[in-house]
Amino acid sequence: MMKQIVILGSTGSIGTSSLDVIARLGDNYKVLALSANNNTELFLKQIHTFKPKFAAVLNPASYEKIKDQIPPCTRLLPPEIDSLCFMASLPTANLVISGVVGAIGFQPLVAAIKAGKTIALANKEPMVMAGKTIMKECDRWEAAILPVDSEPSAIFQCLAGMADEYTYPKISNHISKVFLTASGGPFAKRKGSLSTVTPGEALNHPRWRMGKKITIDSATLMNKGFESIEIMNLFNLPEEKVQIVIHPQSIVHSAVEFHDGAILAQMGEPDMRVPIQYAITYPQRKPSPVQKLNLFQAAKLEFFEPDLTRFPCLDLALAAARNGGVLPAVLSATDEIAVDAFLKEEIKFTDIPKLIYTVLKAAPQRSGIATLNQALEADAWAREAALACLKEKTYKKAFI
Ligand code: MG
Repeated sequence: MMKQIVILGSTGSIGTSSLDVIARLGDNYKVLALSANNNTELFLKQIHTFKPKFAAVLNPASYEKIKDQIPPCTRLLPPEIDSLCFMASLPTANLVISGVVGAIGFQPLVAAIKAGKTIALANKEPMVMAGKTIMKECDRWEAAILPVDSEPSAIFQCLAGMADEYTYPKISNHISKVFLTASGGPFAKRKGSLSTVTPGEALNHPRWRMGKKITIDSATLMNKGFESIEIMNLFNLPEEKVQIVIHPQSIVHSAVEFHDGAILAQMGEPDMRVPIQYAITYPQRKPSPVQKLNLFQAAKLEFFEPDLTRFPCLDLALAAARNGGVLPAVLSATDEIAVDAFLKEEIKFTDIPKLIYTVLKAAPQRSGIATLNQALEADAWAREAALACLKEKTYKKAFI
């Protein structure tokens, strides 16, 4: 069957890898629509190569730059979020790949779910903000989320081929533990204070080449906190069934322990094209040009417990998940502001958890599950609160 594919965030790390995978898969996989934001040069190249029916950029300046260079086979949509929602719910789309960064992916994801689409999801922030509600909406509209991020995909792959009673949300009854692996980021082995870390050092990830936001999140371990929340929501797991494991070699991409004591792990060289391709060809597997793992070369695999004192962002994420309500949404939004401020050298690396802690503490405490609207409102509130906190430097008082 021909698969018509929409890619949101086509010029980012997930988007470019997705197009690379699609180009190699042959005629049965076609690009239906593409969206990007600022990288207009690459976006135009992609449009001319893949000839999608629809294209959109969110940034109005980008729109002005490219609007006269679009081939006649492609319709350029207005630079607004509705265009992304429109593309994510196109009746002819068989798969929507969401590789955008941050809460901007929330509304297009909801649009895709309400249209009953299958979504290959790399954009983890919406799953952090309101993952439980999103999974309920998937059930309601018969939509499906296939995780693309390497670790949630690894867990998903370990669960493949199981009988129906093992699918969401019942699968959690059969899992005794999930081992969520983390490379540990660039500072896993660094001694001394992390307060003098520069953006350049934090962007130098030892294993994965990714976008800036997720690379900083990997350095603070916030990324692992987000992934913990994401998999708790995706696979209906309580916190005590998620064991975070620092695994510097990034060969085991995660593992599942079942009630009988059997552990299934998904392994391989770190290459995002594997989980991306699995989501695109699911439930099939197809040949891929990625480097195959040489077990004799890999030889030694190490596993450590995470240090929550040194990497307080992970602790903050788990606490937000435990408290529930809108706190995960506040966590995610504040992290976006904090990472941006760190990249602009307005705050120190160690100020990132301080800012997040300060805003989380001021947030409306509500237990239970946030609705989609509550999550979006909390996101907007947190951004304002975080910017005010940055301006007034109140985060400096946080003891964390
Ligand atoms: Mg990951």
